[in-house]
Amino acid sequence: MAARAVRADIVEKRVLAPLMEVFASIQGEGAFVGEAQIFLRLRGCPLRCRWCDTPASWAASTTSRVRIDSVRQAREEPALATPFQAACWVAECEPGEPRTVSVTGGEPLAWPDFLLALRPLLKPRRMHLETAGAHPRSLARVLQVFDHISLDLKPEADLDAPEELGLPEDDVRMPFRVPGGDGGEQSERSPRTIGEWQSAREACLRLVAGRDACGKIVVQGGREARDYVHLFDQVEALAPGLPLFLTPVTPLGGIAPASRKLLQDVVELARDRGLSVRVVPQVHRLLKLP
Ligand code: SF4
Repeated sequence: MAARAVRADIVEKRVLAPLMEVFASIQGEGAFVGEAQIFLRLRGCPLRCRWCDTPASWAASTTSRVRIDSVRQAREEPALATPFQAACWVAECEPGEPRTVSVTGGEPLAWPDFLLALRPLLKPRRMHLETAGAHPRSLARVLQVFDHISLDLKPEADLDAPEELGLPEDDVRMPFRVPGGDGGEQSERSPRTIGEWQSAREACLRLVAGRDACGKIVVQGGREARDYVHLFDQVEALAPGLPLFLTPVTPLGGIAPASRKLLQDVVELARDRGLSVRVVPQVHRLLKLP
């Protein structure tokens, strides 16, 4: 009995994930732009996009707090949460009938065990995933539990070197937990080189091809249309039916805005390949919503 109790305790800890915020708002990006949704933002991201607008989500800090924007009263709780706690907080933030939950970050794929355990607790809601598209093996683990995948397609020039999530060695939570070659488990590494990024993107595109999914590409100033050619070539080859959304970067922290000409040129690149493409600015930013 004691051994069974210890095992149950370990399993319980494995599904813990650090959360940053839970709130109701309007989806500002992608295929469901304008829809009222609940947002569940997880902490922890090893990537370093130069235009990241949520760097506070990078650290997988277990000592920080999660903000719950409950319809009754906003409050904070310890960030490390079970899927059951997270599902209760989602219900608290819903001003009415159950609605779609967008799981965002950070990089939610860092916590696949949490995502798998969350799915049955959130029924009958739709569950959408917003992912950077850098960890295909983790994506493959959780693909079936999501009703929609919003996949970032990131030009390598927009990325600084990743910094893997640092957790204490005795922590039973393992970010990006995937099956290892020896029958055990390992943590999926983040891509570092252009070749690794292209492989990761190729694998992610194969996974979402034909599914309820979309691709998002942030376009920042100072780039040329040719910087996006290889992204469109990969989409054309692997997921030609994937709807694409170009997001002109929100110019924060010295990031240059995309010019009208750059946006037009990038749109034409996609259209030349027969891809479905729309330009949609970050609507939640325009409306000053969270
Ligand atoms: S993947 Fe998302 S959270 Fe991570 S650095 Fe890029 S924009 Fe920021």
